[in-house]
Amino acid sequence: MKYKEIAMEHDKKIALVAHDNKKWDLVQWAKYNRDLLAHHKVYATGTTGLILEQELGFPITKLQSGPLGGDQQIGAKIADAKIDFLIFFWDPLEPQPHDPDVKALLRIAVVWNIPIACNRASADFMISSPLMDGEYDRLVPDYEEYRKRKLPKSEEASQSDDDLAGGEA
Ligand code: PGA
Repeated sequence: MKYKEIAMEHDKKIALVAHDNKKWDLVQWAKYNRDLLAHHKVYATGTTGLILEQELGFPITKLQSGPLGGDQQIGAKIADAKIDFLIFFWDPLEPQPHDPDVKALLRIAVVWNIPIACNRASADFMISSPLMDGEYDRLVPDYEEYRKRKLPKSEEASQSDDDLAGGEA
């Protein structure tokens, strides 16, 4: 498979999301790493963003609350290469009304090869990586072949093709 490079600039576009039982974890993590986060562009789902803005004291781009579409908005931004880093403290012990959106967000992050941290330990490793402080070319599969793929014909269309072939014989 061929790959394309998507440049991640020095100042990265980071999305932060936490489910309710994990919000305090994320706040503690973000406060500890405030100075590192401050020079990046930070996005968050509604409630997470509101709390983080109060605690960190710098502006955060707040999207809809997760269950109201915020996770999907982050997913759309990932697909548009407008977010290049996801810290998502989802709750493994509590079902969520928007579980399908959670799964979709994690999936789309993998499709576009976005770094994802789903707990504090991975977030610690990610934020302290030397790669955070420079430009980085993210390799993404070249989906052009997928876009141009041949689709199977509908039964009706292939039936009339068969009739045509029969008529010509
Ligand atoms: P919230 O959404 O930040 O608006 O609480 C998070 C989520 O549940 O996805």
